[in-house]
Amino acid sequence: MDILAHAVYGATVCSRTGLGGGRQGGGQPWWRDRTIWLALGFGVLPDAVSMGPSFVAYCMAGMPDNFFHQFGGNGITLYRCMHSLVIGLAAVAILRVARKGLALPALAWPLHVAMDAVTHADGKFGTTVLYPFSTWMFPGVRWWEHPGVVWGYWLALTPIWMGLMVWRRGGRVIGGR
Ligand SMILES: [Zn+2]
Repeated sequence: MDILAHAVYGATVCSRTGLGGGRQGGGQPWWRDRTIWLALGFGVLPDAVSMGPSFVAYCMAGMPDNFFHQFGGNGITLYRCMHSLVIGLAAVAILRVARKGLALPALAWPLHVAMDAVTHADGKFGTTVLYPFSTWMFPGVRWWEHPGVVWGYWLALTPIWMGLMVWRRGGRVIGGR
């Protein structure tokens, strides 16, 4: 899944203003809900941490070749660590104890892994959900080879937000009686 979609899905699912807020939501303008921004950050974290340093080095070298073709070495190990459900969920569990307020937005990390699992396939950018215990990769569909998948996950956001608005409106009516 592309990194911008990861950011938007993280904020949509793992913030108080989004689905994570349940029926009541954040109860404030969305931009003042800090869990939106934290979820957005955790949503891009797996790609930013694993590919960010290599991308900076690639830019400083004058962008030779194709970034994704020459990405390798330690970057791949880091990519597998950051794209592991085991590691992502362990991080959420640690944050739940250390900084409880971060636990909900931090779920955007394992959400990123789960969504990559179905939108990547075997290969360099396969999703090693059980890493470091196994390098097995979920047999998903490569989003960069299937534009329909990209259209699908972007278009799905509209009914999700509309459904959320309707659901919340129902909650207010019940609460007002
Ligand atoms: Zn990713």
